[in-house]
Amino acid sequence: SQISEAVFVKSSKGTEDCPSDGFPEFALVGRSNVGKSSLLNSLVRRRKLALTSKKPGKTQSINHFLINNSWYLVDLPGYGYATAPQTVRTDWDDFTKDYFLNRKTLVSVFLLIDASIPAKKIDIEYATWLTQQQIPMTLIFTKCDKRKKQKNGGKRAEENVEDFHVMMHEYFQEAPPWIMTSSVTNQGRDEILLHIAQLRNY
Ligand code: GDP
Repeated sequence: SQISEAVFVKSSKGTEDCPSDGFPEFALVGRSNVGKSSLLNSLVRRRKLALTSKKPGKTQSINHFLINNSWYLVDLPGYGYATAPQTVRTDWDDFTKDYFLNRKTLVSVFLLIDASIPAKKIDIEYATWLTQQQIPMTLIFTKCDKRKKQKNGGKRAEENVEDFHVMMHEYFQEAPPWIMTSSVTNQGRDEILLHIAQLRNY
């Protein structure tokens, strides 16, 4: 299940513009600064593979990376910029929700949640929306290495994850799969790749 080859294929402006070769895909999405680029680079063991623009308001795009010539990792724009104007937020919703609802080859959405801080309302909202739409989702908790640095008041990653599950509980028919990760220690890297391999074999 290791990655031997990762090739940037295309930056698409919308769902209908995405590659049409039918390879299964796994989309990474999360709040800006959640650690998405770091995770993507850790997964493919490369620096600076992620190309998604970080500036809110710039043209948003769906970036396809072909892995081992057989499946895609897809980088979606981050959501929840504190400074983004409402129009940018609405655009993000339209853009990514269309992709989630209409992309036939999408196997699972990997929703990234920062485990080093309490979950934000917007994270709960997206997890809830994906669940309600019955879009297969995997929760990827990021920055799990930061727990040891938390002192007074700061909760450990495990507690933040537990709190997130409690908040989400009423919306789950069954809990989605979830993986604890760190791009610093590469915790969870093999688990994600194994999870993808298992989903591809269904
Ligand atoms: P993105 O905006 O979601 O692409 O986030 P980045 O990958 O650029 O990361 C945002 C910030 O969090 C950067 O300062 C990273 O160095 C830091 N970061 C990302 N992943 C981790 C992690 O696993 N552990 C720690 N401690 N910091 C991380």
